[in-house]
Amino acid sequence: MSLRRLTPSVARALRLLVITALAVAGPGASSARPTGQGRQAASIVITGGTVVTVDDQRRILAPGAIAIAGTDIVGVGTPEEIAARFVASETIDATGQVVMPGLVNTHTHAAMVLFRGLGNDLNLQDWLTKYIFPAEGKTVAADFVRAGTRLAALEMILGGTTTFVDMYYFEEEVAKVAREAGLRGVLGQTVIQFPVGDAKTPEEALARTRAFATAFRGDPLVTPAVAPHSMYTLSAETLQAADRLARELRIPLLIHLEETKTERDDSLKAHGLTPTAYLSKLGVLGPHVLGAHGVWLGPDDIATAARAGMGISHNPESNMKLASGTAPVAAYVAAGVPLGLGTDGAASNNDLDMFEAMRQAAFLQKVVRNDPTAAPASLVLEMATRRGAAAIGMADRIGQLTPGRRADVIIVDTRAPHLQPMFDPVAQVVYAAKGSDVRTTIVNGRVLMHDRVVRTLPSGEVLAEAAKMAERVKAALPR
Ligand SMILES: [Zn+2]
Repeated sequence: MSLRRLTPSVARALRLLVITALAVAGPGASSARPTGQGRQAASIVITGGTVVTVDDQRRILAPGAIAIAGTDIVGVGTPEEIAARFVASETIDATGQVVMPGLVNTHTHAAMVLFRGLGNDLNLQDWLTKYIFPAEGKTVAADFVRAGTRLAALEMILGGTTTFVDMYYFEEEVAKVAREAGLRGVLGQTVIQFPVGDAKTPEEALARTRAFATAFRGDPLVTPAVAPHSMYTLSAETLQAADRLARELRIPLLIHLEETKTERDDSLKAHGLTPTAYLSKLGVLGPHVLGAHGVWLGPDDIATAARAGMGISHNPESNMKLASGTAPVAAYVAAGVPLGLGTDGAASNNDLDMFEAMRQAAFLQKVVRNDPTAAPASLVLEMATRRGAAAIGMADRIGQLTPGRRADVIIVDTRAPHLQPMFDPVAQVVYAAKGSDVRTTIVNGRVLMHDRVVRTLPSGEVLAEAAKMAERVKAALPR
């Protein structure tokens, strides 16, 4: 791969080329018909940056360019090739920056940003039962979920996340926010055995899921899903009912899976089976399933997951903070299980920064396995992009910069001191970049954020609403 950086004179020439192209095309260049000299109209051309495609050949174009028309990527090549083929309505100069696929956060609870920093330094059981479940019981309502998800959406857009996989309550509110923010989401309505804010019984939660899935069927951004919380918070009957619903409606099923050793030990005691084997016996596993965490699966369980064709979401920061354990990343990869990366909710992370998740994912594997070659930067970048897309059944749509895929694209400004010099763009993105280095976020061909200004959400209003909800959380805490 070429690591040549643009010299100022080349950059100037490119800009001139773009300006000339615009002048030649004249007004009305945004229409879909071919324009003069056989060039196609593009809504956006991003040119001059280092393009990390994460495509099948893992091409890195330095410099490179991409063309977007409507919702799709229509061209990837050198700046000269793209300028010769396309006339753009809008041109983004990415000189000195990295252009890459938007990040796919395969496991979060977006609205839980409102519990950020609450009940720290506890294990999962204490954290859940002493803080999170009681606080949720007293606070979670439609307006709370809306305010929390809007705050999370701001954070995600600013941090380069373009797709998020959510499990929460009042999921239709999450979906409405995703539409408003312009984010892509696989959004799972939670089903849990005890009464919660949006459902008194699991049956009610399943009915909610059906209504939600019907209301958002065919939405270009929102993929509704059913989210049975876990095998340890649900009866066998409810788990199977959730799975029947997922198969009937052809929607994904999201479930916490083998997050802690306690979950595994309890399952072995109660059922004589590991949680994975238990779910497999219930007939719940399949390509429509995404298991979150997957920390404790043994070789047999991983083989079961691979046979089922299910995906796994790895959440290294949450696993470290709650001391849940270390997921067997290499074993999943070797077994061919699509492995994505997630942040989990902000209450156990405590942010939604996928750049940090990449870095921690790599470092955690290296130290635990005492092997610096474990979880290399290239693998971790794939987990945050194309492998994550595969884990949620969207490999044909997102996760790489390839013509025909949706235009979910981010631009990382690598001109900052902590990102210079840049010899290896992949290592730079994984090991040195932060969410705050993202300059532009594009989802489905729409610019959601440019130069750190979010265009789709009113930041001030979102922060004020979140502050109001924080008062509700404070009032609900045990005294
Ligand atoms: Zn979770």
